[in-house]
Amino acid sequence: MILTSKTAIVTGSTSGIGLAYARAFAREGANVVINGFGKPEDIEKERAGIEADFGVKAVYSPADLTKPGEIEGLIRLGEETFGTVDVLVNNAGVQYVSPIEDFPPEKWEQIIALNLSSAFYTMRYAIPGMKARKWGRIINTASAHSLVASPFKSAYVSAKHGIAGLTKTAALELATHGITVNCISPGYVWTPLVEAQIPDTMKARGLTKEQVMNDVLLAAQPTKEFVTVEQVAALAVFLCSDHASQITGANIPMDGGWTAQ
Ligand code: NAD
Repeated sequence: MILTSKTAIVTGSTSGIGLAYARAFAREGANVVINGFGKPEDIEKERAGIEADFGVKAVYSPADLTKPGEIEGLIRLGEETFGTVDVLVNNAGVQYVSPIEDFPPEKWEQIIALNLSSAFYTMRYAIPGMKARKWGRIINTASAHSLVASPFKSAYVSAKHGIAGLTKTAALELATHGITVNCISPGYVWTPLVEAQIPDTMKARGLTKEQVMNDVLLAAQPTKEFVTVEQVAALAVFLCSDHASQITGANIPMDGGWTAQ
């Protein structure tokens, strides 16, 4: 157990990759702050499940990560409940698929706010405590789309390229403070986010569901398999370990070979 007595905040952890991170950190002994949207009863079930399964404490923050004021409250909740915020994972994200000329401006603003700017704000509030304790791990869920583009995903690709740059900048600023900052760039991971974009992609490209799955999603992924949320979470746990203390400013793909092409 490498995170005993530490606290991890994971944004967007009521589902998908974020929930897998929260459970993986709890398995390593961390108290966790989970965040995101969903039905209250489902969220409570996941929160209580983390406590029951791993014997740690888990609290939930409903902060809307597109709102900087609520982000400050999220970090404060971690510090006030557990005393420290040691691991920060910026993971909340949404997708929208449309040609640029039809892309709704409010969707552009939402995706930039959530998938990019929220990480600036969480770091801004969490870094002083990490610096004071001379230890921290900041992990940003980027994407293969932080390295390459796909059509019809202008806001997402822009935000993900942006978070890769933010990661490098923060890593350089914090290099002598015992704080590492990295991003994990998954290819297609089977989660609600991927499932939800299938109808829009069918519409934008005039394809069937099977064609979207095989010819669009896994077309780029040479292994022809989806990444699992547990695989992504295991990499995050490694990045929290002492063995990873010299990995900082990195953008680590986990994409079945997608960005090797
Ligand atoms: P998901 O839809 O399962 O989870 C997204 C989470 O973000 C949920 O908990 C949701 O409630 C939360 N969220 C949405 N809007 C929010 C807001 N305004 N404030 C706070 N929380 C909010 O998606 P996922 O696939 O697990 O994606 C997680 C991250 O991984 C995203 O950043 C995504 O871009 C990235 N990613 C996913 C894949 C993939 O294939 N699934 C690939 C690469 C990168």
